[in-house]
Amino acid sequence: MFLSVFDLYKIGIGPSSSHTMGPMTAATMFLAELKDGQWPRPSGVKVFRLKARLHGSLAFTGVGHATDSAVILGLCGNLPDQVDPDRMAPLIETVWAEKIIRPEGHPAYRFDPDTDLIMDRRIALPGHANGLAFEAYDVDERLLLRRVYYSIGGGFVVTEEEVNTVKRGGAAAPATVADVPYPFASASQMLAMAKASGLSISDMKRANEETRMSRAALDEGLDRIWEAMRSCIERGLAQDGIMPGGLKVRRRARHLHDRLQEEWRQNRRNPLLANDWLSVYAMAVNEENAAGGRVVTAPTNGAAGVVPAVMRYYLHFHDDADQKGIRDFLLTSAAIGGVIKHNASISGAEVGCQGEVGSASAMAAAGLAAVLGGMPEQIENAAEIALEHHLGMTCDPVGGLVQVPCIERNALGAVKAVTAASLAVKGDGIHFVSLDACIETMRQTGLDMNERYKETSQGGLAVNVVEC
Ligand code: SF4
Repeated sequence: MFLSVFDLYKIGIGPSSSHTMGPMTAATMFLAELKDGQWPRPSGVKVFRLKARLHGSLAFTGVGHATDSAVILGLCGNLPDQVDPDRMAPLIETVWAEKIIRPEGHPAYRFDPDTDLIMDRRIALPGHANGLAFEAYDVDERLLLRRVYYSIGGGFVVTEEEVNTVKRGGAAAPATVADVPYPFASASQMLAMAKASGLSISDMKRANEETRMSRAALDEGLDRIWEAMRSCIERGLAQDGIMPGGLKVRRRARHLHDRLQEEWRQNRRNPLLANDWLSVYAMAVNEENAAGGRVVTAPTNGAAGVVPAVMRYYLHFHDDADQKGIRDFLLTSAAIGGVIKHNASISGAEVGCQGEVGSASAMAAAGLAAVLGGMPEQIENAAEIALEHHLGMTCDPVGGLVQVPCIERNALGAVKAVTAASLAVKGDGIHFVSLDACIETMRQTGLDMNERYKETSQGGLAVNVVEC
């Protein structure tokens, strides 16, 4: 099993990797298929109109997660990592006004978002909770081409054919398979390979990555990921005001940051200092995400604040923190994220928030334990502690927006990650619950979880908090 660090950490836009980035990517995949012409159509017949149909969780929470806008942007040919956030709103407005899309290299297609962007809440597609279909019609409304895609969490998209190869209770298959020297598919295999090789988890992950790219390219990519995370924190700390979507939730990170800086300047004693800084960093990222800004999936957008917050905490509070530590952190956390994704899920629509913030917290705990000098067994223990104490956590975003409970939840996920890493590195690596058992528990819990608590906004906080 091989899942690259760059599969888990992807630069994109908010507010959701599964509901924004995935559908945008799926739309571009459909465009590519439309363009290559390798599909049967009567000669002389031209594509006149496109339609998009969103199903399952995408239909229930798609508007709050900006799936409608993401589909329009994708059909205009934009990819999440390349689209200019400042150009998105004018482009979407133009499509709504003109009811035409003009992707580069294609003729203009009719696309009226009012009638051609369909939120179908009645029918869930069989492959995954986040299914969507794109269709091409001729001028006589005859269907020429239909393709189904699934946005399976973390920005990953699979086709209808690919999803049928995905196994174990609907969990997602690895996006990439390669011949790598340390092909661990579970935490126990990871520990066995570390023991046999004498390498750290980050060294094994590095060796796997370097089968696909040079060391320089890997380091450059890791540094770019951290720079995108760091910039996201800085932007989040500089913004104020109300976040979009109608809940009228205020941004808080900047205000909290100002207070913390003032305390710091005055040398005032704060027994909660580390917790407060972790929270403010995580909230800065998730407020940016909620506002549709540039973020890095870690492993998803909804959970994007946990890993950057713990990395920033590491740089802030640990004197020997350095660039090598940042790279090792990312590689170690990606190794853990890959094992979780392979054996369970990182999708809130599939297993609830335990799979999003729970996975992010486990990844961050492992990364921090690694840079604090933890042995592989201690790192595995750190990930296990963090994940164990997110088990059963549901996904119930109020108003379908990635704001409540998501923003604070990332702060708490970061605090738990640091606590888990601290507990683990102070131990000897021997522990009662294995990470593999914990991941399997998360998978089974996700299967048993009522659909109301899987990113549909039909249960939990989403129905008990009055929107104003
Ligand atoms: S509740 Fe958790 S899983 Fe659901 S949208 Fe928010 S962060 Fe994502």
